[in-house]
Parts: sequence; structure tokens; C-alpha cells
Amino acid sequence: MDDWKPKTRAVHGGIRRSQFNEVSEAIFLTQGFVYDSPEQAEARFLASDPNEFIYARYGNPTVRMFEERLAQIEGTEDGFAVASGMSAVNVALMSAARPGMRIVAARALFGSCLYILEWLAKFGVEVVYVDGTSPAQWEAAITPATDLVFLETISNPTLEVIDLGHVAALSQAVGALTVVDNTFATPVGASAAALGIDVVIYSTTKHIDGGGRGLGGAVLGSSEFIRGTFEPYAKHTGSAISPFNAWMHLKGLETLDLRVRAMAASAAEIAAALDGHEKLARLIYPGRASHPQHAVAARQMDHGGTMLALDLKGGKDAAFEFLNALHVPVISNNLGDAKSIVTHPATTTHQRLPEEQKQQLGITPGLVRLSVGLEDAGDLADDILRALSQI
Ligand SMILES: *Cc1c(COP(=O)(O)O)cnc(C)c1O
Repeated sequence: MDDWKPKTRAVHGGIRRSQFNEVSEAIFLTQGFVYDSPEQAEARFLASDPNEFIYARYGNPTVRMFEERLAQIEGTEDGFAVASGMSAVNVALMSAARPGMRIVAARALFGSCLYILEWLAKFGVEVVYVDGTSPAQWEAAITPATDLVFLETISNPTLEVIDLGHVAALSQAVGALTVVDNTFATPVGASAAALGIDVVIYSTTKHIDGGGRGLGGAVLGSSEFIRGTFEPYAKHTGSAISPFNAWMHLKGLETLDLRVRAMAASAAEIAAALDGHEKLARLIYPGRASHPQHAVAARQMDHGGTMLALDLKGGKDAAFEFLNALHVPVISNNLGDAKSIVTHPATTTHQRLPEEQKQQLGITPGLVRLSVGLEDAGDLADDILRALSQI
């Protein structure tokens, strides 16, 4: 098992069969577990073993299969699944928080991740923001006083790519914990943990679910972090994932590699068809040589990602005309779904950001984010080119 590749782990990893020896993983829809005796109950509470179950807020066999499978794919010692991606980020940061600690974070973050950092700052945590694409800014900010470093591998929505190996080395040198939200990159074709990142987070709502069905999140790391830091806080504060959602995402892992590679291949094809288009001020795709961090992306991942961003020359009016003219992608704000999804970040996901911050992050009125799904790439490219021609 130790020499299994991630694709094999994604299908067989973490499996535990009941007395019926079922092929497909069972859903254990139960909050509690019966003990043979009070002695057994006492021993189980004392041991606090993640593979023996007490109460579903602490752990559940279906959830455990999902945690073990994902940890095996990423290549970490352990993992913990929670109710959503944001719950994963919140519990990771809150459980590691200490009075007066210093966090260094990339500026381009998912809005809710920024919210958590701002919340921590109210309690005396020092949060220093850097331009994640600037190696010099990371070098200057990660001082010996730094306790934790937080970033997203590929930022939302402008798809900046951060050099994980570089940040991990700087953090290790000062003994800081690196926490990375790797949702956009997915565990396919790369491992943040292998690049030296201590704690890897996924919103499993996205590519891992892959069909837009339910929320979930996971945190992967060393046994010391998962059992010593994360678990005590998680189990007492009630962030448990439903066993049903854990089961959906467990089964999603079986096809994740195929789906992400197919989406990335289509994204590359669409990016090629759109490059230099007269209606676009910018085309952002990490898999293209024109992307500012293309070299980093190519080193870190063996595909260019499943997300594209287009900046339309005509601003908000053009972006809205474009979205209204599309037939194949749906207008929504999820990503990693089988259905291609278009989002206008300036008026939806990033609506609340002050104008100045939007400008700093490159969230222009003409910016459209595209999560490439599993439709035929030619159909998608034709639809996008037709919609652009109608503006
Ligand atoms: C969606 C997303 C989250 C939040 O995940 P939920 O499952 O919606 O809570 C966090 N980070 C990134 C990068 C995301 O895309």
C-alpha cells in the first residue's frame, strides 16, 4: 500500500468494511455507537482513538474513510473532515491561534478567509499581508517572530499562483506553521504537502464533490497537528461533517483525477482559442506561457488548472452582455462542478470589497471567472466565442 500511486489510493484508500463485506463504502448514518460494557465505554473515552467511535461529532466510520483516503492521496499522516471549506479554515486557524501571535498571509484570499483573519486581528493577533506573487515580500515578512503563514495556492478570482516550495522553506527556517488552502489547485497532479506545506485545506464542496451536491471541508497534516491541535478544538466546537456528505465526497475522490484532468485539458483548449481575442483586455490561465507565474505553475502542477479568468474590454456592461449571451455555462458561484460555471466576481463573490481593494486585487468590472466543467471543450469554446462576438 505504501507504494500505491495517488490514483490507486483514491479508489481503495481508507476503506473499512462491515461484517457484510460490501463493495461500495457504507454510509453510517448514526450519531452514536453502542458499547458492550461500561468498561469498554470507559476505555474508549480514555483512548480517544480516531478509529474507534464514540459520537459522530468526534468521528464516524464513513467520515473516517473519507479522511484517510484524502490524507493518503495528499501524502499526509492524518486528516480531519468538517462541515465546509470555511469550517476547515476557521478551525485550523482558531485551533492554532495564540495571544499576540503573528500571521503572515497572502493578500489575495477568498473573502471569507479574509473575514477570519480580520476576526483574529480583533483579539490581538498581528496579521501582515503580502503580495503572494512577490518572493521578496514573503522574505521580508516571514521574520523569526512569525508563527503561522496562510495562503491560497491559486488565488480567487485572478488565479495568481504562489510558489509553495519557497514559502515553505522560509517558514520552516523560522519554525512557522504553513497553512495552505489548496482548493483551486486540487490534490490532482501535485501535492502541497510534498512541497513542504504543513497543513493543507480543501473545500471538498468544489472539485471533490464535483457535482455541486453538498458542502464539505478537510484539513490534512501531521498526526501531531491533526490530533494535538485541530481535533480537540473541532470536536468540542461542533464542526462535524454529515456522514452522508462525507460519503458523497469519498466517492467523489474515486473519479477526481479523471475529472480534474479532463477539465484542465478543456480549460487549456479554451484558453488557446481565446488568447489574443479582440474583446479581451486580459486572459488569465496558469497553464499558458503568458501567465505571470506560468513557470511556478508548471513546476508545481502537471496541468494548468480548471479555472480561467477573462477581462472584457467593455467593463461591467460587456461582462453582463457576455454572461447573458452564453448558452452552455451556467451563471453561479460554485466551481469544480461537472457543469461549467461563470461568475462576475466584482458584483457577487467580491461585491463587498472596497473599490480600492478590488483594484489592488485586479478584480476589474470586466472580469469574468470561468470554472470549466465536463462538457465537450469544442462546444464550450464555440459558445464562448459566439457570446463574445455578440458584445
Ligand atoms: C469555496 C472555497 C472556500 C470555502 O468553502 P465552502 O465549502 O464553501 O465553505 C474556501 N476557499 C476556497 C479557495 C474556496 O474556493
